[in-house]
Amino acid sequence: MSDFRLGDVIDDHCIKCRRVTNHAIVSLVNSEPAKVRCRTCYHDHDFRHEQAPPSKKDLKKAELFKEVLAAAVPAAAVDPPADPEVAPKPAKKITARGKRA
Ligand SMILES: [Zn+2]
Repeated sequence: MSDFRLGDVIDDHCIKCRRVTNHAIVSLVNSEPAKVRCRTCYHDHDFRHEQAPPSKKDLKKAELFKEVLAAAVPAAAVDPPADPEVAPKPAKKITARGKRA
């Protein structure tokens, strides 16, 4: 049974300290910590159950992954393969000297 009270010190992940630090409960919702204050840097934030938020590095990685996925998807739907008969290359060669032979 949780018996949290305002001012209690609990562990939570502080985004400023980038690690789990002691936090004082500053607000409670349904007897659960809602807001906490880091006892190291005094930063107030929502209680995050000691879960670290995704780091910028992770976000960047996810973004790169998406780009790679997009590049790997066949582009056929967007850019159909060129039809050889409609290719801009001239089909006939016109030679000026061909008639003599
Ligand atoms: Zn902190």
